[in-house]
Amino acid sequence: MNPKHWVPIAIETLTQLLEILHHPVFTHWEYACISSYSQLHISLLSVLSMSPENREAPVIIVGSGPSGLATAGCLSALSIPYIILEREDNFAPLWTQKSYDCLHLHLKKQFCDLPHMPFPSSFPTYVPRKQYIQYLQDYMVHFNISPLYNRPVIESFHDEAVSKWIVKVKNVISDEVEEYSCRLLVVATGESSDPLIPEVEGLDSFAGRVMHSTEYKSGKGLEDKRVLVVGAGTYIDEGDGIHWANDDDVFEITNSCDRQNSGDAKLACVWGFEQVWYQEARGRPLHNEDEVLPGIERIRGNEVFFKDGKSHPFDVIIFATGFKRTTKMWLKGSDDLLDNDGFAKPCPSYWKGKNGLYCAGLARRGLSGAKMDGMNIANDIKAMLSQGCP
Ligand SMILES: Cc1cc2nc3c(=O)[nH]c(=O)nc-3n(C[C@H](O)[C@H](O)[C@H](O)COP(=O)(O)OP(=O)(O)OC[C@H]3O[C@@H](n4cnc5c(N)ncnc54)[C@H](O)[C@@H]3O)c2cc1C
Repeated sequence: MNPKHWVPIAIETLTQLLEILHHPVFTHWEYACISSYSQLHISLLSVLSMSPENREAPVIIVGSGPSGLATAGCLSALSIPYIILEREDNFAPLWTQKSYDCLHLHLKKQFCDLPHMPFPSSFPTYVPRKQYIQYLQDYMVHFNISPLYNRPVIESFHDEAVSKWIVKVKNVISDEVEEYSCRLLVVATGESSDPLIPEVEGLDSFAGRVMHSTEYKSGKGLEDKRVLVVGAGTYIDEGDGIHWANDDDVFEITNSCDRQNSGDAKLACVWGFEQVWYQEARGRPLHNEDEVLPGIERIRGNEVFFKDGKSHPFDVIIFATGFKRTTKMWLKGSDDLLDNDGFAKPCPSYWKGKNGLYCAGLARRGLSGAKMDGMNIANDIKAMLSQGCP
């Protein structure tokens, strides 16, 4: 029998079965048995949903960062099948691949966990990056979350004729364009999805190394180098250390350097951007050997010219200049939900738009926002599906 025919029927049947099994009439003991049974079925549903012949699910989540995982965890807890699409080859790439080694969560752990699974009590108050990644991995195992990796979404629109979202994906392994569809689409593509390097005259001519803060891991390899960090505030130095260039256009400092691992390079150790921002804004130096420079005017070869008319030679430039969001480039019909910059609009409900479109983690509320959005969206989806709409 052609899987095209039996897979949707199997999904429908299993979904109905799960609905019945989760009825409150069951006792605690029965519920425990049913829960394990449900997890088995959710896995089966995921496998069915992921088969190449069936690229349709009630819900599609785009992005496997903390917001996408929070939504997936809540949907799993409600036994609602979904597909989760991720453009990279790993979950939460901002944490697994694009952040510096000594990063810790800069908010206390009680504000950073995901729904239905608190951090282990053995974790410190400010969770280090490695432990946070382990926690996310455990979360995925617990809720049977299996993202489809290497699949950047390149286009999505609502097809009025069939009342479904069409989601086109470039499979970067096979180089093919795959088409998925769903009734409910959750965009969890992150506020920090694409590194932003501002236009600087002559940057192409820079003879040294240029990197965005997402590429910075530690000070290893920067020993004895003249390093310019753009976007980290104000600080003066006479030596060849890190120079912080202050620019009004810089809106966010996302990564920073760690002194312990930096060898002879003069770097500052900070756990989160607020610390740097506030210290610098008040004119308090982070370290006596670092220097604050005004905004960059232009670059020629190794020489960087600043707005005060002075210039200095550098070997490395690190742009800690934040991110942009590209979601609106591929997502059509989201104007009621997202502003031009890809952030959630405030009203009436910042996580829910028209035609079954949702967004998670785009309202500038950090990890606690990711948790709340995941819970709200999953509960709303449950209500929508039980009403048989949209
Ligand atoms: C260095 C750093 C430290 C932070 N520390 C904290 C903290 O301590 N506490 C706190 O509350 N917040 C913190 N934040 C802010 C925020 O909580 C994190 O950015 C968090 O990762 C946001 O999760 P997210 O899932 O919304 O976005 P992301 O983690 O950015 O995940 C988005 C996902 O979507 C994928 N994606 C994007 N576009 C596509 C596409 N077209 N197709 C398929 N997949 C796509 C991305 O690859 C990514 O996996 C920090 C941010 C940074 C940068």
